[in-house]
Amino acid sequence: MNIDFSALAQKYNTPLYLYDFDYIAKRYQELKEAFSGQKSLISYAVKANSNIFVIRHLAQMGAGADCVSIGEVRRALAAGVKRYKIIFSGVGKRDEEIREALQSDILMLNLESEAEMKRVELVAKELGKEARISIRVNPNIDPKTHPYISTGLHENKFGVEIDVAKRMYIYAKKSPHLNPVGVHFHIGSQLTELDPIKEACGIVADLVRNLKALEIEIKFFDVGGGLGVTYESETTISAEAYADVVIEAARGLDVTLLCEPGRYLTANAGYLLTKVLYEKGNGGRRFVIVDAAMNDLIRPSLYDAYHKIEVADSADTKKEEMTAADIVGPVCESGDFFGKNVMLPPLGHDALVVIYSAGAYGFSMSSNYNTRGRAAEVALVNGEDHLIRKREQFEDIVALELACESGWQRSK
Ligand SMILES: *Cc1c(COP(=O)(O)O)cnc(C)c1O
Repeated sequence: MNIDFSALAQKYNTPLYLYDFDYIAKRYQELKEAFSGQKSLISYAVKANSNIFVIRHLAQMGAGADCVSIGEVRRALAAGVKRYKIIFSGVGKRDEEIREALQSDILMLNLESEAEMKRVELVAKELGKEARISIRVNPNIDPKTHPYISTGLHENKFGVEIDVAKRMYIYAKKSPHLNPVGVHFHIGSQLTELDPIKEACGIVADLVRNLKALEIEIKFFDVGGGLGVTYESETTISAEAYADVVIEAARGLDVTLLCEPGRYLTANAGYLLTKVLYEKGNGGRRFVIVDAAMNDLIRPSLYDAYHKIEVADSADTKKEEMTAADIVGPVCESGDFFGKNVMLPPLGHDALVVIYSAGAYGFSMSSNYNTRGRAAEVALVNGEDHLIRKREQFEDIVALELACESGWQRSK
């Protein structure tokens, strides 16, 4: 897709997030087709990019939602995701969240500990309901990804061991307030190798067979998310190869195949546009200071993540003019950078810089650090641009503080 970055930066100002909705649709369809002929559900991991319009776009194509807080469940419902396609995961659900999820009658709550199961049972009992649940199994598999985004090893906080899961299913089966309908695992993010997924699928499929022998019928085989994408030059797993592994593992089981991709659908649909403020040199090192910062996109600081960075309209720059530069933001942290040793031409004030692969864990992880308003978001649909989130203003940031400005200070 040919995007006129300069025109959009002119129209909406910077920093600005752009999402190519046609790309998101293409990715979704590819994955859905890879599972064709099977009962399948793709529940989008809302945390990757939680904009309601992004969720709605996916919901309109039939996607469900994988949520990790009641806030995300509410977003999914507000975006029009069918309640029976919503899963509520996460290691630490509060009673109120459990209650609301049960009242909303979503597909299932994904449980991550025995203690949580007891809470869910209690809340369901209070409501006179039967909670549909799945259990997140930790298959103890090294996903061969960055340790911060690895989740399927016993050393990680997620899920329960197979034996514990089995005990939980047996308990749940007997409880009048729990209905065990699913099994779940998610071994990590940015997975680029198929073997760990295959191994995990095998372990969990065996569990489903064991449960069947105990007359516990699992209906949803949820293989989590984590499909990797190309940020730099990574070779990734194709939708077909992925689906084939899952289909093969679940052969003979009468289950709906469920997956929860986040970044696979949105990462490379997104661009963060930012303008150059200044250039400076420190002891021979070149710094390009831009108007976006780590509060807008924290992945480089948090995960040492690579993002491709280019100057917009740089087609006619000569190679000889390029020198290495660190691209940094205005926030008062040394970790506030987007790229190091990036080859760039000399850049004047207001030169436009494009940060790629910013559609997942970009805006959704952004903050108001340094009292910076969050960026605006724009959807690109069929050659048209639509504002899907206004730029945050100072008044928005301080509103909840000023709302507390009642008697106590003034009386001093
Ligand atoms: C984060 C997460 C996902 C999505 O991860 P991606 O790498 O964005 O695909 C899916 N499922 C669970 C349980 C998660 O925690």
